Amino acid sequence: MDELPPQLTAQEEGSHPYLVMKDQKPPIITKAIDALHRHKDEFFKKYGEEGTEAEKKAISLLSKLRNELQTDKPLLPLHDDWVDTDIWNQYLEDQHNLLNENDKKISWFQSSWLYVECYLYRRIHEALVLSSPISDFDVFKDSKDQNFLESRGAIEALCFYLQESKRTIEVVDENIQKDEFCKLLQIMLWGNKCDLAVVPGQSIPQTSSPLTILEGLKPFILVNNMDALWSLLLNKRKKSQENFSVIRVDFILDNAGFELVTDLVMADFLIASNLATEIHFHGKCIPWFVSDTNIKDVNWLITQLKAAESTYLSTCGLIWEDYLKKKTWVYHDHMFWTLPFEYCAMPHVAPDLYADLQKSNLILFKGDLNYRKLLGDRKWGLTIPFHEALNGFHPAPLCSIRTVKTQVQAGLAPGQGEQVADSNPEWMTSGNYGILQFDGGP
Ligand SMILES: [Mg+2]
Repeated sequence: MDELPPQLTAQEEGSHPYLVMKDQKPPIITKAIDALHRHKDEFFKKYGEEGTEAEKKAISLLSKLRNELQTDKPLLPLHDDWVDTDIWNQYLEDQHNLLNENDKKISWFQSSWLYVECYLYRRIHEALVLSSPISDFDVFKDSKDQNFLESRGAIEALCFYLQESKRTIEVVDENIQKDEFCKLLQIMLWGNKCDLAVVPGQSIPQTSSPLTILEGLKPFILVNNMDALWSLLLNKRKKSQENFSVIRVDFILDNAGFELVTDLVMADFLIASNLATEIHFHGKCIPWFVSDTNIKDVNWLITQLKAAESTYLSTCGLIWEDYLKKKTWVYHDHMFWTLPFEYCAMPHVAPDLYADLQKSNLILFKGDLNYRKLLGDRKWGLTIPFHEALNGFHPAPLCSIRTVKTQVQAGLAPGQGEQVADSNPEWMTSGNYGILQFDGGP
């Protein structure tokens, strides 16, 4: 195989990765510190003096981390004893071994951006792990919950839409079902705008009904493979009706809050319309990129919905809880998702996860970080085919559903990137454009 394109780094002053590391990341650490401060009384009530000491320790570790980042210090081995500690430390050692004489050091602004960004969130986790007994405190939980609460109007509209379309699902023809499927796909796509790691501490509430804006946003979908997804699932449904075969769809989740609701609404629709018979969700096992989903976020969301006054919300809460109980929906959180590896390394690094994903009929990868990992965070040419840029990662048919927030993109038509850049020079980092990009497999 030809040499792979280089990975992005934050080396070049003024580049997007540079600005993210310099301007966006330190305030995220500060917000984490603030969250610990805010919960200080709670720690004391729960653990007494020990809780207060732990809070102080976590804060001092986070302040030290912020300083290391701001002064571009070399990355350090981890000192906690979490399940993946050895893997991270081995990764760092391997990076050292790869250094040429000319390369300076493994540091925040010199090394692979994907690696250092993941390492930052792992270090935030380390600060908590080392601060027992408050180790399982999620410093980002408040902002995730706030995003949900501020998006209540849009969530209610969406749950109402779901229940209306489920009511008629048996009697409507295929075209109407396809239309509803495509609408929900686009909702999932634009729901991905709510990313608290991009706009730290400032959640983007969804206040109006998200369904009304879809038509106007269509020109902003740069790659739109919705038809391929529909045909794939429709064929599976026809076969399944003959031989009762399983149709498994996997969601590799991104953000909690509004975006998670859009994913669950789609999952519910797929089950109700027999386009899928089981859904597997994959979340993160530690707090990650501020707003990423972990199991506590899923449980909290379902509790909130069940307790809501609106019957549209409470019905969804009850049905979704039931799906999870009956294993029609299954939630997983493999540690691979919070390691720094590109996805083509999955067969070697996490063969169990890869083998599990091979059982899927369709894998939906949500969000920008998943896309970066699919493409190895490499500077592929914009017109390199998506299949090629996946670099051998083909566990099953897959689709990336993502608003474009970083300069990693493949599979555009010739001239398309230039044309978009003409009217919108910041198109790759604005989050205003989206893709629904499908790859059928090997
Ligand atoms: Mg995210």
